[in-house]
Amino acid sequence: MTADAELIEAARKLFAGPIAFHKSAPGLEHLPPADLPEVAFAGRSNVGKSSLLNALTGRNGLARTSNTPGRTQELNFFEVGDPAQMRLVDMPGYGFAEAPKDVVRKWRFLINDFLRGRPTLKRALVLIDSRHGIKDVDREVMSMLDKAAVSYRLVLTKTDKIKATALDAVRAAAATEARAHPAAHPDIIATSSEKGGGIADLRAAVLEAVS
Ligand code: GDP
Repeated sequence: MTADAELIEAARKLFAGPIAFHKSAPGLEHLPPADLPEVAFAGRSNVGKSSLLNALTGRNGLARTSNTPGRTQELNFFEVGDPAQMRLVDMPGYGFAEAPKDVVRKWRFLINDFLRGRPTLKRALVLIDSRHGIKDVDREVMSMLDKAAVSYRLVLTKTDKIKATALDAVRAAAATEARAHPAAHPDIIATSSEKGGGIADLRAAVLEAVS
């Protein structure tokens, strides 16, 4: 097997094993101890983050879909492996249109403090809806990650919803933009939770980040 194939197979095995919801942290005082490597998932609300976490872990209902936008301001932690080997962190969605200012402010503080103060955070995955490309709110998060020196990768979602030529274009544009960000990985992962495209690569990217 090539190194890539080995990583993909190891990642498949890891995510086929035990995975459990660990805890919700509405504030930094509720975080689990920083004792395991972590990979965080960020994205605008409705980007398909819950669906992607469910596809990644092969279980429906692990991450709850259709949270009321603007209400959920917690970081949700999931433990992978038994004994746990790593944690997945579901960050609260951002960019919802009618969010009250104090909710946005609270979100920004929570995320910034988490990104800057979490020594075990190995990587963030920033989800981008492939139909819309990178938006200004995504750029804001990318720059928060750059400043916090947290390495991150862009992941396109819902690729089953667009044509291959449109996907090529959005992928190229995202890669160009990623190259201008110091903490961004230059390769973009294109996924469809619905059809399963790119999910094996995403699993490998998560495992690689914590290995
Ligand atoms: P979240 O708010 O980011 O957690 O987004 P959800 O996972 O709840 O997804 C938002 C909507 O997009 C739901 O209606 C999902 O069914 C839909 N969706 C998510 N991923 C995909 C995908 O890969 N393909 C398609 N066609 N729809 C998706």
